[in-house]
This record gives sequence, C-alpha cells and structure tokens, in this order.
Amino acid sequence: MPHVIIIGCGFGGLAAARELADANVDVTMIDRSNHHLFQPLLYQVATAGLSAPAISAPIRSILASQRNVTSLMAAVSNIDTTRKAVALEDGSEIAYDYLIVAAGSTHSYFGHDEWASLAPGLKTLEDAFDIRRRILMAFEYAEREDDPVRRDEWLTFTVIGAGATGVEMAGTLIEIARHTLRGEFRRIDPQQARVVLLEGSDRVLAAYPPDLSEKARKQLGKLGVDVRTGSRVIDIDGECVRYTDKDGEQRLASRTVIWSAGVAASPLGKSLNVPLDRAGRVVVGSDLSIPGHHEIFVIGDLAAAISDGKPVPGVSPAAKQMGRVAARNIVNRIAGRPLEGFVYRDYGSLATIGRKAAVAMVGKLKFSGYPAWLFWLFVHVYFLIGFRNRLLVMSDWAWAYLTFKRSARVISSAIDTPPDKPHDEASTQ
Ligand SMILES: Cc1cc2nc3c(=O)[nH]c(=O)nc-3n(C[C@H](O)[C@H](O)[C@H](O)COP(=O)(O)OP(=O)(O)OC[C@H]3O[C@@H](n4cnc5c(N)ncnc54)[C@H](O)[C@@H]3O)c2cc1C
Repeated sequence: MPHVIIIGCGFGGLAAARELADANVDVTMIDRSNHHLFQPLLYQVATAGLSAPAISAPIRSILASQRNVTSLMAAVSNIDTTRKAVALEDGSEIAYDYLIVAAGSTHSYFGHDEWASLAPGLKTLEDAFDIRRRILMAFEYAEREDDPVRRDEWLTFTVIGAGATGVEMAGTLIEIARHTLRGEFRRIDPQQARVVLLEGSDRVLAAYPPDLSEKARKQLGKLGVDVRTGSRVIDIDGECVRYTDKDGEQRLASRTVIWSAGVAASPLGKSLNVPLDRAGRVVVGSDLSIPGHHEIFVIGDLAAAISDGKPVPGVSPAAKQMGRVAARNIVNRIAGRPLEGFVYRDYGSLATIGRKAAVAMVGKLKFSGYPAWLFWLFVHVYFLIGFRNRLLVMSDWAWAYLTFKRSARVISSAIDTPPDKPHDEASTQ
C-alpha cells in the first residue's frame, strides 16, 4: 500500500490522519512530542488556570483505533525530496510515497533571538510551564524583597504584542493579581501589581475590525491592564524593557516579560527547497502541493495558501480544513482523479480578554462583553479533544468562576535566588 508520512500531529496533521482512516494507505504519524495540544487554551496553563492534561492528549491514544496509522515520537530534521525520505534527528530515515508536512510555526523575535530567554513566547507546554513559573516566582521574589523599587520591578508584568494571545495573557494576569492572590501574601499587596501591554501598531487585536479593537481596549482598561499602543520594543535586558513611542524612547522597569509579538514558520519548510514567503511559510498551489512535487503537501501554519485571492490565516480551523483537503488529494491522486482546490471557510473569530470580557465576529455579526465571553467558553469546550478534557476544563472553569481561584499553581524547579542586577532608579517608570 502507498506509504503516507504526516509530519506533525497538531490541528492540521491530526485532521489529515483522520481523513485517511478509510483509505487504502499506510500512514506514519511523526511528532516530536507525544501529545496533541489544544493551543488556543495554552495561555490558561501558563496562567495556572488549567493543568496540562486538560488541554492535551496522547497522540497514541487519539489514534489507537485507527489501524492504518503508526505513531512515532521523533523529531524530523530534514526532508530529502529527491530520494523521498525524511531524516530523523537520531540519524535514521523513513521513505514515503506521499508526504504531508504539518510542522506548524514557532516564535519570531524579529532578528533579536537573544530576547528569547528573557521574554519567552507561548507555543508548547514547556513554554507554558516556564511562563507559569516566572509569573508565580515574581510574586514570591516580591514578597521577599525589602527594596521598594525592586519590589515594583517584580510586580510589573509586561506582555509584548496585543494579538489574541497577548490580550488573553494580559487580561488573565491582572485577574491573578487582583483576585486570585488576594489575601495570600503578608508583605506585598498583589493588587498593586501592574500589567502593561505593549503593542507596536495603533490598536489591539489588529486582525479584528476597528470597532471591536476599541471595545477590547476598553475592556482591558476596565480590568486594569495598562495598554500602550504605538510602542515598539527596541531592547529587553531582564530587568527592563525599552521601547519607542510618539514621545521618544521609554524605559519600563519590569522583570517578567512575555513575548506574543511574532510568529515564524517551522524551519522544516526550508528543507523542501521551494519558494517561501517572508514569514518562512511554504508557498503551496491551490491543491496544497508544492511546485515540482505533486506527492508533497504542506498545510496549516507552515503553508502560505491562497483562497479566494486572499492569504489563508494561521488559525486552527484553516489547518484542519487544509489537513482534510490534503488527505483527500492523496486519495484522489492514487485513484487518478482530479485534485480538489482548497477553499477556506471562515466561520468567525473569537478572542477572550478576561472574566466576562471577549470580542466575537461570526459572519457579519459582531458582539462583545459577556455574551461574547459565554460564546467563547462554549466554543472552546466544544472543540477540545476528548470527553475527559471537556469535563476537566468545565469543572476547573466553574470552580475558578465561583472562587476566583486557579487550580494549577504548583511549580517545581523554582529558582531560590532571584536574579540580581543593580537597577537605575532615576529612569524607572
Ligand atoms: C498560544 C496560542 C493561541 C492560539 N489561539 C488560537 C485561537 O484561539 N484560535 C485559533 O483558531 N487558532 C489559535 N492559535 C493558532 C493555532 O493553534 C494554529 O493555527 C494551529 O495550531 C496550526 O496548526 P498546525 O497543524 O499547522 O500546527 P500545530 O498545531 O502547531 O502542530 C504542529 C505539530 O508539529 C510538531 N512538529 C513541529 N516540528 C516538528 C519536527 N521537526 N518533527 C516532528 N514534529 C514536529 C509539533 O510538535 C506539533 O505537534 C493559537 C496558537 C497559539 C500558539
């Protein structure tokens, strides 16, 4: 039987594998992690609202009943399109007849990779654990700090980038400070913590219509987030963030910085040796195959696909839809039938801002506030994989809603000694 390799069991890869369930092919699913991750709720793990198993599920268990799929936990390091083989990091190779590349995306620091360790981005469970530890430890360090200036630095949280993830992070961080930790510390008042959201463009949620952006900004302000648009970050050094705005260069003393400003395609795209767009995404044809290789399909965040003359956005419904079309096109090709062109169906966009605050766009309908938040809750529970995950998320959310408490605050490998650097009081904002 023809051998199909799928690289990546995210939204796109998983949809492709499921679409091939009844096809006469052998499928090998290769993913470097052992779990499928529901990234839209990752910020909840990073902010201690949900535990990791609530938003992830073992790939083996998801695909156990699909007899034509073999799962391998391995990292692909290269694709040899001439010899039709993928190379794994351990040096071994696996040959394919058809290949679906669904390796997703990673963070982009716009040429400043040195910021990565100072301002982690959110993409994997490991990122979420790192961010959660940094947030919770910042309050611990502040409680132990005698110097009021340094205490303020620990209690100032900066989120860079006001797309959906940045807005969600900022809204949740302020809730942790104002509600979750209330009454738990003796030397600091967590409610004094500041959350600053820096955005280079002139509005938050730039992918949304201006009126919804404005509503989101107002809701963030009401929750207590300090939103600074038109602010372009020029340096991050571990104890402060420097940025420029209309008044010139600014310095914001802040020891916990979270990056949600840039996305770059997986580096695996380069090994295909075909044209990439500016974000490193592989330019695909309307059938999602790549030029010169009708047996290779690239989908999801890694693909620069066009539908109805417009670029397809890097969102989970697009990845799933591409996965299904790529899988059907493999079956079409094997059967000698014409291939299907990809048409993206946009069912809308949703972004949550915090408790009872969200914005939503469904078709021509736009709404915000409490109704949008309820809709957001419903949609995210509905699309989660597995009954157990849905139950876990619903019970954790119900508990958090009633008590303002967050259930996943246990951290390990905490650093006992705060990173110490002299500060510059005069320029602290
Ligand atoms: C924090 C966050 C929040 C988001 N919120 C939303 C939202 O609310 N709504 C929405 O629609 N979209 C959201 N997105 C975007 C959405 O998650 C992506 O568009 C979607 O995951 C893309 O699917 P994909 O299959 O292309 O890649 P992914 O789902 O990222 O899957 C890629 C898979 O490839 C594997 N992989 C990568 N490289 C290799 C390699 N070399 N070898 C082996 N395996 C590899 C990875 O382990 C991963 O499992 C969010 C993304 C993030 C990061």
